[in-house]
Amino acid sequence: MDTNFVYNATLIDRIDAILPQTQCRQCSFQGCRPYAQAMAKGEADINQCPPGGEQVILELARLLGQEPKPLNEAYGRHGPKTVVVIDELLCIGCTLCIQACPVDAILGAAKLMHTVITEECTGCNLCLAPCPVDCIHSIPAPQPLDTTLAKQKSAIARERHRWHLTRLEIRKKHETERKQQASPQKTTATANSRKAAIAAAVQRVQAKKIARAALAAQNAQKKSPAE
Ligand code: SF4
Ligand code: SF4
Ligand code: SF4
Repeated sequence: MDTNFVYNATLIDRIDAILPQTQCRQCSFQGCRPYAQAMAKGEADINQCPPGGEQVILELARLLGQEPKPLNEAYGRHGPKTVVVIDELLCIGCTLCIQACPVDAILGAAKLMHTVITEECTGCNLCLAPCPVDCIHSIPAPQPLDTTLAKQKSAIARERHRWHLTRLEIRKKHETERKQQASPQKTTATANSRKAAIAAAVQRVQAKKIARAALAAQNAQKKSPAE
């Protein structure tokens, strides 16, 4: 057996166990484990994880026998933990956020309102950009966790991310099979009709937002004393 492989696999696990499992990709890798793999190979520095901040850098430095160094803010700044909420009245049920979530923390189905399982949300913010109606908002996490609880939550997030990757693999396989069976014209027509449905829903939400803003302005006018 290749002993280097065993050594590296163990080292990768130990590095990965230190990382916060936010799965936000701010370190420039596709998740915590790919970053851990790069560090184990000596191809990435120990100060690239903004969610982990100083504490993670200290633990990595200890494990890898290096001097601690400040967080490289080119990768982002360390800040308080956040989660996201969905403005359910504006959600058009396009499912784009579900596809973006690395830990499957969003529940919903096509054309139905979506909601976030706050307990499972890591605050990675990967779902914000794909939302076509900007109805996902970042808010402070309900309560700061002590170190033991934070480690337990990280372990759960690691497992959820593994399941997420497996689910994507299975789905990719099914989609490839489906595309091989369907005619190219039918595939294009389905994609176009989906795009058109999303565009129409976005327009409806924009009208709703304008109506909401007008109502808020009207209420503010009623409350302020007459000039
Ligand atoms: S928490 Fe984000 S920045 Fe830190 S290692 Fe994981 S994916 Fe990279
Ligand atoms: S719900 Fe959004 S912020 Fe929370 S884990 Fe999923 S993608 Fe990240
Ligand atoms: S991306 Fe936005 S609009 Fe689409 S399902 Fe998610 S929250 Fe709803």
